[in-house]
Order: sequence, then C-alpha cells, then structure tokens
Amino acid sequence: MKCFDCAGLGRNVDAVAVCIGCGAAVCPDHAHVMPYWLTRTAVINRTVTVEPPTRAIRCGLCRQAHDTAAGHRLSEVHRSVRS
Ligand SMILES: [Zn+2]
Ligand SMILES: [Zn+2]
Repeated sequence: MKCFDCAGLGRNVDAVAVCIGCGAAVCPDHAHVMPYWLTRTAVINRTVTVEPPTRAIRCGLCRQAHDTAAGHRLSEVHRSVRS
C-alpha cells in the first residue's frame, strides 16, 4: 500500500501504518504515533486507565482534528465548572 498523503503530493511512497481515524495508509513521515490509554471500569463505575499505554497512529489531518477536539472538550469542562 502507498501513503495516501504522499499520493496527494504526487509522490509514490510505501506506507508503514494505517491511520486509526480515517483509515488512510501513511508513510513514516506522515504517521504520528501517540500514546493511547485503554480504560477499564473499576468498582462504583469508576473509569481507570490501564498501564502501559498502547499506541494510536494517526495521519496529520486526524491528529490535528483530534487535538482540536481535545481542546474543545477541555474548554467545555471549564465552562460548565464556572457556570
Ligand atoms: Zn507520506
Ligand atoms: Zn487519518
């Protein structure tokens, strides 16, 4: 499989991973490896993270979108705390 983002730039580069967000194949240059914590539910419905973190591979676009969504969630929490 070839890198989807490279193909858009007119290049023909072998892909090494697949983005978990959009399913596009990506080369090492376009793959962003991020830690990803699995969770399990403990007593009284508490969600706890499990060590060690696994990984999530995203393309540049999905990483950006993910970061933006994470920022939005944070500001929403902020707002609801204040009101
Ligand atoms: Zn690429
Ligand atoms: Zn993606």
